[in-house]
Amino acid sequence: MEWTSLLFEEISILLQEAGQPSFRAKQLTEWLYQKAILDPTKMTNFSASLKDLLQSLGTFSLLEPVKVQESDDLETWKFLWKLQDGSLLESVLICSEKRRTVCVSSQVGCPARCAFCASGKLGLKRNLTTGEIVEQVLRIENFLHEKGESVNHIVYMGMGEPLENFDAVVKSLRILTDPKLFGLSQRHITLSTVGVIEGIRKLSLESFKINLALSLHAPNQNIRKKIIPYARKYDFNELMDAVDEYREITKRDITYEYTLISGINDGVEHAEELGKLLQFKHCTVNLIPYNPVAGLKLEKPDRGNISAFRDVLDEYEIAHTCRYTKGDDIAAACGQLALQETVC
Ligand code: SF4
Repeated sequence: MEWTSLLFEEISILLQEAGQPSFRAKQLTEWLYQKAILDPTKMTNFSASLKDLLQSLGTFSLLEPVKVQESDDLETWKFLWKLQDGSLLESVLICSEKRRTVCVSSQVGCPARCAFCASGKLGLKRNLTTGEIVEQVLRIENFLHEKGESVNHIVYMGMGEPLENFDAVVKSLRILTDPKLFGLSQRHITLSTVGVIEGIRKLSLESFKINLALSLHAPNQNIRKKIIPYARKYDFNELMDAVDEYREITKRDITYEYTLISGINDGVEHAEELGKLLQFKHCTVNLIPYNPVAGLKLEKPDRGNISAFRDVLDEYEIAHTCRYTKGDDIAAACGQLALQETVC
């Protein structure tokens, strides 16, 4: 059993069944979620016998820190963890003005195999457990506490397709947003999907108010399936309808992620098609100029093309941002998370 996989009520029941008083769950969850302490030996108001009991009931730490890399601009940190089965995992912290955003991974590797993505090259190794997802946030929270800061945004945009690990991801969302546990506002969380239609529909029924980002990357199915082999499984129009339904049910605006790749999807004709597709939707397009990934033969778009693309979106009155990536010097930018380390 993993302590960080449990809801507050599950922790309460477990401790009561172990003969502990009812206030113990609050004490323990304060250590885990408010102080981000995962080592029971540091829980100073617990007796030695209680610490032993807690350790005998479940595992506290699932991630072993291997390496932390800091970008040249000191705004992005990439964390490499080793899991108990020896798998490696990465998470990223992005600091931008007052935002402290953790980008969490949901799987080891990824089944989607997007053409521009380092994680996709690996294929899927396995799903993460709820505790392995939650602990990424808690360890980075602990890292920030040392600077007197806290995590205030979470994006499920690291390695993996979160909706292909639905149950573990949804439970991690419950834990990270429960005011009795980590307590982050649902509106400060974004889940990014490559477009798992049944997952989008299920998520819209979970009564969350989290933001949804669709990794669209193309204005039509023909280009999309070349960039995202996984997209062949899903009908393009049905996917767009599922995202519209999510917006309708949750009232959260949608972000469409669009990685601009030279010669593939960055022309004005593509921008025109995208404009027609998204006109009148409540959405933002997040343009991401492609980041070079070792071993992939794709090229960055030039600045002129990016500017022309943006002009077309302006004509269609579509809100857009262009994310000149942070952290690309440490391969922590979008689509660059892949395990370049070997751990003995
Ligand atoms: S971009 Fe996202 S969905 Fe695509 S392969 Fe990479 S991690 Fe998977």
